[in-house]
Formats: sequence, C-alpha cells, structure tokens
Amino acid sequence: MNMSDAAGMITRTSNVIRGACPHDCPDTCSLLTTVENGVAIRVQGNPAHPPTDGVLCTKVSRYTERTYHPERILHPLRRVGPKGCGHFEPVSWEVALEDIAARLKRIAARDPQAIVPYSYCGTMGLVQGESMASRFFHQLGASLLDRTICSTAGAEGLAHTLGGKVGMKVEFFAEAKLILIWGSNPITSSLHFWRHAQAAKRAGARLVCIDPRRTETADKCHEHIALRPGTDAALALALMHELIVHDWLDHAYIKHHTVGWPALRERAMLWNPERAGDICGVPPEQIRSLARDYGTTAHSAIRLNYGMQRVRGGGNAVRAVACLPALTGAWRHRAGGLLLASSGVYPVNKAALQRPDLLAGRVPRTINMVTIGDALLRETSASFGPKIEALLVYNSNPVAVAPESGKVAQGFVRDDLFTVVLEHFRTDTADYADYVLPATTQLEHWDVHSAYGHTDVLLNRPAIAPVGEARPNTQIFRELAARMGFTDPCFADDDEALCRMAFRRQDVDQVDFGKLLEHGFATVPVPDAPFADGNFPTPSGKCEFFSARLAAQGLDGLPDHVPNHEAVGTSTAYPLAMISPPARNFLNSSFVNVQSLRDIEGEPLLEINEVDAAARGITAGAVVRVFNARGEYRCKAQVSRRARAGVVNGLGVWWRKLGLDGSNVNQLTSQRLTDLGRGPVFYDCLVQVELDSPVAPV
Ligand code: SF4
Repeated sequence: MNMSDAAGMITRTSNVIRGACPHDCPDTCSLLTTVENGVAIRVQGNPAHPPTDGVLCTKVSRYTERTYHPERILHPLRRVGPKGCGHFEPVSWEVALEDIAARLKRIAARDPQAIVPYSYCGTMGLVQGESMASRFFHQLGASLLDRTICSTAGAEGLAHTLGGKVGMKVEFFAEAKLILIWGSNPITSSLHFWRHAQAAKRAGARLVCIDPRRTETADKCHEHIALRPGTDAALALALMHELIVHDWLDHAYIKHHTVGWPALRERAMLWNPERAGDICGVPPEQIRSLARDYGTTAHSAIRLNYGMQRVRGGGNAVRAVACLPALTGAWRHRAGGLLLASSGVYPVNKAALQRPDLLAGRVPRTINMVTIGDALLRETSASFGPKIEALLVYNSNPVAVAPESGKVAQGFVRDDLFTVVLEHFRTDTADYADYVLPATTQLEHWDVHSAYGHTDVLLNRPAIAPVGEARPNTQIFRELAARMGFTDPCFADDDEALCRMAFRRQDVDQVDFGKLLEHGFATVPVPDAPFADGNFPTPSGKCEFFSARLAAQGLDGLPDHVPNHEAVGTSTAYPLAMISPPARNFLNSSFVNVQSLRDIEGEPLLEINEVDAAARGITAGAVVRVFNARGEYRCKAQVSRRARAGVVNGLGVWWRKLGLDGSNVNQLTSQRLTDLGRGPVFYDCLVQVELDSPVAPV
C-alpha cells in the first residue's frame, strides 16, 4: 500500500488517526487526530499510551492551528528581489526541482563538498529526518554535517561515564523519595516527567531544582539551588566531597561496578563546599544539606536535562553528575539513578535508512552546524576545502537558532550562495532562500519515532492529505535524486517501507511493526533497574569515573569543573551572565508564529533581577539594549525573581523578524564549542544591559 493509497483509505474509513508528536521534546507523545471530511479538527493525547496518558502540552494541542495556519507555504516559491528580502513568486514543482537539480549539478561538477545539508530536529522522525535526505547527500558526496546544536556535549559525557544515552525508566521517578531536577524545567519542556515527579511529591518525595533560573518548576519544588551558569560540575564534585567525608557511599557497588574510584576520590577531595560555593554562587551550607539528603535517601533519582551542558564544560558537568548514583549505589533500585536521555536503548538501523555506503569510499569534509556562521563566510582553502556554494536546509531554522546569528545572516545573504529551504512557514531562514519548498507537517505524512524520555517506538500515519502542494521531505529528495540521475534502487523506497526498515536488522523486525500499525506504539524491553548489577554499556562494563578513552585522547580522564569561556567576573565591560532558556509556549523556534501561543508570550523578554535592574535604572516593561562584542538585541525587561543577581535570562527562541529590532537573543551567543562533543555554548555568554536610548523625535 503506498502512502497516498494509505492516506486516502484512512480518510475515507476512519476519523481518528494515531500518530506521534514530531517535536524535539523527550516525551514523544502518542497523538490521536480526529478527521472529518478530510479535515483535521482536533489533536489529542492518546489515553492508551502510558507515557502520554491522554495529555498533550498546550503547544501541540493546538496543532490544527499550526497545520491550517493562513501563512502556511502552499506552493514552491522562487526568490524575486535581493537576498533576504523575503519576496517570492510561486512556481510549479517541475520548474523548481529542475532548476535546483541543474544548479546542484553544476556545483557538484566542480566539487560536491561545496554543497552542504543543514538539518536538525524540526521533526524527530526517523524517516522525514535523516533517511532519503541522507541518501541523497551521500550519493552526491556533499559535505557531511556535524549535528551538534543541542545535545552532543551531554551525550559524550554520558557515553564516557555510563556508556551511552541510557538510564532510569521515567515512570519510576514516581517511586523516588528524592528527585534532583537538574538543568531542566519540565513544566515547560517535559510535562509527562513532571507528572511522575508530582506523583512522587504527593507520596512524600522531596524535590530539589538545580537551575540558574527560578523556573516554573523551581517554584513547585521544595528547594531551589540557583547556581551560576556553567558551575554544575563544581557542585557535583562538592557533593562527592561530602559523600566521601560522611561516608555516605555504597562501597560494594563502587568496588564491583565502577572504574577509577581512587583517582575520583582524590579529585573530589579538592572540592569542599566552600570552594564550590564560591564558584557556584551558592552558600556552602546549602551544598552540605543537599549532599546529606542525597547521601542518606534511598531511592534518590536525578533528572538531568540538556540546559546545563550548553557551556564550555558541559561534557565534564554531565560526567560529574552521572558519577553520583554509582557512589551511593542508587542504581540498585528502579527508583534510583539518573536519566538524561533514553535514546540509546533503541535498535535503530540508521545504516539502512541513511545508506552511508553510497559514499562509495569518499570521505567528504564535515561542517559543524554550530559554526555555520563562520563556515558560510570562509573562502576556499586547503584546510577548509571549497567555499560553501549551496545550502539545503530542512527541519531547521538556522538564521534564528544558530549562535552568533548576525554572522549567520551575513553568510545567508551572500549573493553567490544558492539556498533551498524545505519549510512549513516563511521563517527567518526561508526569507534568505532562493527556493522555498512546501513541506508536509506531521499530520500529512508517514514517520516512525524513537524517544529520548521514554522507551517506546511510535508510528505516525498520515491523518490528512497534504495541504496545498506540500510534499514530504522524503518525496522532495526522491524527486531531486531522480533529476540528478541517481539510479540506486534505494531512491525508490516509499515512506512506509522506510518506516518498516528503521527497526529491521538482517530481515528481522526488532520492533513489532504489526503492533505499531495496530496500536501506534510498541515498547522496547528494558530492565526496570538496568544497572542494579553493573553491566553498563561502557568498554569496561562498569560506570567509568575514569575514562581511559578520554585519557587516550590526551584529555582529562576524570570529570572536573571547566570554567566557562566567558566566566562571571572576567569582564568589566560585560558583567552579566546570560542564559537563553525557551519561552514556555515555544519549542526552540517552532510555534513562534502560532498567534494564540505568541499572544500568551507577548513580546521578547529579558528577565533581570531587581538588584541588577536598579543599578541600571531599569524598570519593568522598559525596552533594554542587551549587548556584547558580538552584537546587540532589544527586548522588554521583566524585573523578576526568576533571574538571580548577576544572571539575566533572555527567553527564546523568537524569530528575528518578530522581535523588536529584527534580531533575537542569538545575536549575542558565541560560536565557541564545548569541552566534549563539539557542541554550542548558548549559556556561556557575558553581556551588558542598559536602558535603550529613547528615539529622538523627528
Ligand atoms: S511537545 Fe512534548 S509534551 Fe508536547 S505533545 Fe509533543 S511530545 Fe508531548
């Protein structure tokens, strides 16, 4: 059954279609879309799917508003007018695809590495993400993209400690007696985990939030530890110090299931609470008290999230925190341990989907997506390779979300850059395109999903026919492949076939596809307490306090506090640290154009503590100029206890063109990288804030 047959059959015979939320959120909800006369009228959470439990966040429960948005791109568009002006004319698919293929062929004839894909998690789907698109770029021999913009520092930190993105099963947080919610604001970004945390709280658990910002989650916890950005490793090492001094250790667990204990012990003893407190900006007594709670509570669990690893020492910070449960033996219980991401448990057959063998021995250069601003401005050289001549953007909005966006925009505006953007809307990035190609939303295509906050696989069936002339990413790359003359049979695989092969190895389904078709989801079997007896997926099979693999790279084998590139107190010109957590009703830059959600958010805001505001004569609602050597950004000040003294919170990620001055918070962030994983340092950013000068009357 091909996709259109399937979609047609479904809309004729059924009015509730099972799908999956495609957004970059750990919860990966199971969706039920109600369709009447071919129109999706409602999207709800599936009550039969335990992790979803019938509940969606505000953002996705308004998904029909997004799907039928009046500004949805319905036809292929070709640029008219100067780069970046956002003026387009509609063209046929035939005209657009023929011209794009012809131009790519000309560039590829010189050097295919001058063509660069740019994509991330605009959809988390394995099929509409990196399947046919990767095949296309592999066959072409285009530059590879290092997809680092979110989580790679933490992922590497975890891999070097626990062996991969593995950890507690999320549902057992409900049974924990102490939960540290570390670098995470689940009320905004992981609603379903928060339901488990609340259940634990009702059953008597203590909840502690560790976050520079006093988030909505911190408001609901028993305690909030408002440390400075980029100091999490210092806090974790001081906790270790106290666990050692007071012997709140599980010696048998350490002996049998860890590597490097004597060396870690020696390192941790350098970090008494006074030293760490000084760096973290936290009273030493609060660190002692947290260590006491952690060391003396059986069933203590840590929910870590990626916010804390977006600083120079992000990889080390995750390593330090990930050592804690092995010291106390918390892993022995199903309600103990740590969860950052569960995505390492899935048997995804990426090679079948992405076909790296199509490179046929070629080894193209790799472009780090974090530094796309610099990369677009580089000339041809021996070290860089060819100047970037073409950029194909899908599932991403780099002009808004990549760091140092002034430089990103400078790169995108190049007249000699050929840019194609697959999108739903005229985003900041689409405005710079030569061609904008209308892509389908999740309600209009097939996909299959793993998750990073639970351990289920979800199938997404199309609920409605594509809106306007939109096409799935897969179809667009299939049709481009045909025009490029790519003849490998893999370019004929349809989307349902791609869904089936995502979890098939050697002709054996690792996940029951029949079950996915029938129920919409299937659970990957994972032990309740995966590391109760060690068996970590590291080379040693143990929790690696000391990583021989890091040491072999000439790096520190032990976790340590690595100061920020831009540490507080190192600049008199820019004395405030800035973090840029997501606004509650946006998800990265998605949903910013959904009017009902934007109405809730109001305007771009900078949360500033009353002490910092008073020192600058800033009052609530004033327009402020936030600036550093990389640029400036104007927004409204919110004098708020959500910001600790010395730290401002620039809520993101607004589209630049919807901001007060055509920029957003990433105008200020830097392209420097993390200690591990080559990731971004969005929360490692010093700024100054001042009242915006009043505009002189004309
Ligand atoms: S964004 Fe997260 S909470 Fe909201 S529907 Fe999607 S998976 Fe569920």
